[in-house]
This record gives sequence, structure tokens and C-alpha cells, in this order.
Amino acid sequence: MIKVSPFLIACAFIFLSPAAQAKLEVVATTPDFGSIAAEIGRGHASVTTLAKPTEDPHFVDAKPSFIVKLNRADAVVEGGAELEIGWLPALLDQSRNPRLALGAPGRISCSQEISLLQIPASLDRSRGDIHAAGNPHFMTDPLNAKIVAEHIANAFCQLDPKSCDGYRTNLKKFTAALESKSAEWEMVLAPFKGQRIVAYHDTWPYFARRFGLNIDLFLEPKPGIPPTPVHLAEVVSRMKAGHIHVILVEPYQNRKTAEAVAADTGATVVDVAQFPGGVKATDNGYLELMDYLVNSVGKALSEGKK
Ligand SMILES: [Zn+2]
Repeated sequence: MIKVSPFLIACAFIFLSPAAQAKLEVVATTPDFGSIAAEIGRGHASVTTLAKPTEDPHFVDAKPSFIVKLNRADAVVEGGAELEIGWLPALLDQSRNPRLALGAPGRISCSQEISLLQIPASLDRSRGDIHAAGNPHFMTDPLNAKIVAEHIANAFCQLDPKSCDGYRTNLKKFTAALESKSAEWEMVLAPFKGQRIVAYHDTWPYFARRFGLNIDLFLEPKPGIPPTPVHLAEVVSRMKAGHIHVILVEPYQNRKTAEAVAADTGATVVDVAQFPGGVKATDNGYLELMDYLVNSVGKALSEGKK
């Protein structure tokens, strides 16, 4: 009788068992990319997200556990365009993972195929502007989300060819759902074309462009610079002159400042987030977040009209 070592039996079991097949280990920087990476990777990739949905993506609280996660990852999904420049490069250095180096297939930069808005003619960080490479908040345009989903699927296929069919099937499903929702969202916001909205930070130019809104007045004098009394007084007078009734505030921004401006102008403060889970009933991912954004902005604009 041939003797088979228990070690070989264990190995055979690991290779034969589909449940034990190694999944692609993916780390996403923020929950929007994490949500889409999880949709594309469903069944084949394991996705963890570093930033909380209520955190400012420019200033994420970097924890030592992030270095461990990055060290073990096969891929990192980042926004790029300097979104994470304040916190991710140092973590990547410390994680010492060549799979995530710039130019490696495991470094998945979502801005790569996006036409960025607001690219400055000349680089000047001296004034404190944290959007020095163009506006990095491109995910609130569903067409950009579609481009990002395709980009992630292509990258996953390159990293994990054996599961490529699965990634392609997941992509098809996500894209179909996104397209049907996009038509619905355009209908909800169609009555408000050309309307102006104030936001705390310049997070919404892609959302505004997609849905025909103007979100071009901000409580911050420049992205990343806190509001000043002089600047807020100017915002109040421009809101009154322009009959602007809606102010968008994200979870990590100073709601009291927005409320003070609202009290002076009769406007409504609307709680929004650019990340799934950042506001209530948006935990289930990107599509649910966009549903919330479109409906809450539409509701506030229709109330402002009365
Ligand atoms: Zn920003």
C-alpha cells in the first residue's frame, strides 16, 4: 500500500476546495471605491476600506493597522489626483509592499481614466488649495462610477486571471443597475436645471455637471481653508441676491457654521455625504448613496421653490 503523508492530503484538500481558493486581497482608500471594488470582486476578492464614511478623505486618521492591511494586500484601490496625498503615501512607504508600488498592477488609481475638472493652469499649493491636481471628488457623477468600475474590473482581471470571467459578470450586473438608476436620477433632478446650491467644500462639481445644477459657492474660501467671517458675509449676500435656498454639508464639516448662514438667509441645510454609509440609510453601497443624494437634493430644491 502506498503511504500518503497527511501533509499532502492537506495540500490536496486546500487546492481542491473552492472555498479555500485564495481570494484577491484588496484595500480601498475610501468607501466609494471600496463599494465598487466589492461589487466587482464579489465571490472572488476580499475588500477592506481604510477611511470611515464620515471622515474627510483629504485628512484620514492613519492607524497602525492600516500598514498591516496594506502590507498583506494584492492591490490598493485609490482615487489618486492627490485625494489621499496627505495620508496614503506615508502608509504605503511603511507597508513595504512592492505589489502596491507606483506603476505596479496592484496600484489601481481610479482617476486614471477620468477627465478631471478644475485642473489649475499652474501648480500653486502655497495658498492652501488642496485640489492642486484638479478636483478629486469625481465619484458623484454616475458616468464616472461606470468608468471606475470598468477600470477596477480590468485591473482585477490582470491580477487574478483565473477569476476574470467572474469579475466581468459582476461588472455587467453593476453597470446595468447603474444605467437604469442613472436614467431615474436624471428624471428626479430634471425640473431643477440651472438652480444654484451652496456647499461647504467644493465636493460636487461632477454631480452638478451631470444633473445640470450650479454648485459654485462655498463656505470655505478655498478647498481646505476654514470659513472666515468676511468670506461668510460675502456668501450670505450672494445667497440673498441669487435666491439660493440650499446648503450642502458633509458629516465632518462644521454644521453650526452652515446653520448660521442658513439662519441669515432662510436656506435649508441638507446633510449629504460623498461616501456610502456617511449619511443614514446609505450603508448598502454606491447606488443607495446616489439614490439618497439625488432625492434629498431634489426634495430641498422643490421646498425652496415654494
Ligand atoms: Zn476636496
